[in-house]
Amino acid sequence: MATKINILPPQEAIKIAAGEVIERQAHVVKELIENSLDAGATAISLYFNDTGKALIRIVDNGAGMSKEDAHNCFLPHATSKIKSLDDLTSIGSFGFRGEALASIAAISSITLITKEEGTPSDTLGYKIVYCEGTVLEESAVACPSGTDIQIHNLFFNTPVRKKFLKNDDTEWNAIMAIVNAMSLAHHSVSFKVFRDNKMILNAPTVTSQKDRIAQIIDLNLTQNLIPLPPIALPAILEKQNFFLTGFISHPNVGRYNKSHFYFFVNHRWIKNNELGKAVLKGYDNALPPQRYPVVCLFIDIDQQHIDVNVHPKKEEIRFTNTGLVGTAVATAVKNALESLAGPAIQEPVTPIQSFTQTPRYTAPIPQIFSPTSEIYPTRPVSPKPNFNTLINTIVQEQTVITPKQVQPEFSITGQLYNTYIVLQDETGITIIDQHAAHERVVYERKKQSFEKVETFPLLFPETVTLEQEQIKALEKTKKFFSDQGIMFEKISDRELLVHAAPPAIKGPTLTELFCEAAHFMQEFEHMDPSLFTLKYNEYVLGQIACKTAIKAGDPLTSEQMHQLVNDLFSVDNRFRCVHGRPTIWTIPKATLEKQFRR
Ligand code: ADP
Ligand code: MG
Repeated sequence: MATKINILPPQEAIKIAAGEVIERQAHVVKELIENSLDAGATAISLYFNDTGKALIRIVDNGAGMSKEDAHNCFLPHATSKIKSLDDLTSIGSFGFRGEALASIAAISSITLITKEEGTPSDTLGYKIVYCEGTVLEESAVACPSGTDIQIHNLFFNTPVRKKFLKNDDTEWNAIMAIVNAMSLAHHSVSFKVFRDNKMILNAPTVTSQKDRIAQIIDLNLTQNLIPLPPIALPAILEKQNFFLTGFISHPNVGRYNKSHFYFFVNHRWIKNNELGKAVLKGYDNALPPQRYPVVCLFIDIDQQHIDVNVHPKKEEIRFTNTGLVGTAVATAVKNALESLAGPAIQEPVTPIQSFTQTPRYTAPIPQIFSPTSEIYPTRPVSPKPNFNTLINTIVQEQTVITPKQVQPEFSITGQLYNTYIVLQDETGITIIDQHAAHERVVYERKKQSFEKVETFPLLFPETVTLEQEQIKALEKTKKFFSDQGIMFEKISDRELLVHAAPPAIKGPTLTELFCEAAHFMQEFEHMDPSLFTLKYNEYVLGQIACKTAIKAGDPLTSEQMHQLVNDLFSVDNRFRCVHGRPTIWTIPKATLEKQFRR
């Protein structure tokens, strides 16, 4: 049967096209901020109702539009920025040109109020209400110069697109990632964000990029930001006018995920996995396990040496010489870290609030040693640990050891640096990292529900202050926490009251645990639900184990050392801690003898 070709009406066609490029509120926000910046705005305010689904409003003090432009800006291919195809490459276009407003207008209803810069203050501006290709209302209005665009009911006529939006927390994070990135790249523009009439961000104009990073990411970070030093570049990159600047954080102020990796190429925010890897390579082993730095990199390079067509929304880019760019970034990071003199300035536990109203979490100061008896309560122990099992296991599992005869008599020589337990027997020396070992023991026992959860009602319940999104995320796993002996209830949008917790988890450690758990949820929420539950439980148990375990630096009694060694050799996975560090290192006696030429 012959099919009949239907030509879609232009308004339908643009709706479809719009749906392809505008998948979520954050994409609209990006286009609108870019337009305001292009119009030379120095102050931008953003308002969101219902995470932008009901309203996204942007008010700027830029050049504004004439009545004619206000009409034309909604037409497809309306742009004041290029006149021909040749201009496209030269302006370094990352966004789609001349289509943003037309596309947004096809899937929402827009109110535009604008007045051209430089017009006398008593001149009226222009207001136009536009929906699905039609002007619904237009009038002259009194307004300041600049542009005020209100996007109502985004996706109202594309229900499928609306259905595929992620939950509000995720969409909000995506919106804020855009706002943060845009404001990091333009520190001389002031940014304000309001969510459901509450101010979320207030970042006034500052004079340096570093100050902007402090405003946007964390005010306490300032002392711990290291500028990237200039590095010697290979000739190829020099020829491409490659130029790298930016800041990285001190290794001591690690974050729990890569959400603070910001890369800009020719002043546009981009995503690029290779740059992320290069940064981590530059840190080498300077970061604690599972911690990520704060990074803001600005790269300038001739436009023809990047490919912006990797991703339909041009968020990702590729460099012609990826390898060289990666090496340059890793080297700059490494040199920056090597330039550090002295230890990091510790961040205070309670974040100072000033520019931003949302509390930002900063890594707490490591916990000060608490009495041994409290952290490792003694249970009845057999005075002689079963060293047969111990050495058998070492022989079986540690391949580096040369075949040897199993000796039953192993003795604990002592503790080194209050951190390592040293054992010896006729065949060699074994060194155990007490924290890593105990972490593994606690984790395995908790996993098997082997050990009754040790929890105590708190005499003075603790209030933990977190971000609203974190509280929402944590509430979903209340039951899991209570199984681990941590009982809490939500007492406000930003506060949890903790009634009961294991003795080692309190104060900053409690806040840290909740932050880690919430970050994990935010990062992996797209995972298959059953896999997510498994991974989440594993991760939080690991973190609880880490915080409950004895620490490096804790002096141990001989009895406690015996118990720990015994416990370690009775659990699975004993050769690595939960975070993958080794727990045990054995030096065969033969190696000692060889070394001393005996
Ligand atoms: P493009 O930015 O690629 O030109 P858009 O659809 O985003 O395309 O915008 C169309 C035109 O509308 C712009 O070229 C500009 O002239 C005008 N415009 C949009 N937003 C603003 C604004 N905030 N201030 C001044 N003019 C604007
Ligand atoms: Mg635009």
